[in-house]
Amino acid sequence: MDLEQLKAKVRDIPDFPKPGIIFKDITPLLSDVDAFQAIIDTFARRYADKSIDAVVGIDARGFIFGGALAYRIDAGFVPVRKSGKLPHETHQVEYDLEYGTDKIEMHIDAVGPNHRVVIIDDLLATGGTAQAACQLIEKSGATVVECGFVIELGFLNGREKLKQHEVFSLISY
Ligand code: AMP
Repeated sequence: MDLEQLKAKVRDIPDFPKPGIIFKDITPLLSDVDAFQAIIDTFARRYADKSIDAVVGIDARGFIFGGALAYRIDAGFVPVRKSGKLPHETHQVEYDLEYGTDKIEMHIDAVGPNHRVVIIDDLLATGGTAQAACQLIEKSGATVVECGFVIELGFLNGREKLKQHEVFSLISY
């Protein structure tokens, strides 16, 4: 399956979760076996020979792609979660939203110095979430090899916010 075919399977949901947002629904990419395999295979080819110790998936859709990728490239999987969900001691980073702030967390012992990690999420919008995830990983002393996304909304300039890191996406708008 090529990238145009993948792109055709992303479903636009206007005004979800609030007016003015066009939500990119990736569930058709998950239920279609060829699409899901094409996504994981593309990530796996890119990261298989990069000595990745852990794939860090961002809550919640990043878990789906990140978990499958981790298995494929013989890496561990580490969840970055919204505040209050992780049971053990955590590193925390607060970041700005359009209105207000949000907080994400990662267990303090999930990755450590000398670990090479890839961050995976379904979608790069403004880049605030991924930037906060990079900061979490750096608090642990690990190295962010790249941030990988299925979809990038290029017009929101998330890459600019992540300019200290490598960024890869399969599908761009
Ligand atoms: P951001 O921090 O602005 O880059 O937002 C990225 C996070 O919000 C990701 O975890 C996405 O799943 C989610 N997100 C932001 N905008 C959209 C959108 N238009 N469609 C689907 N998910 C989105």
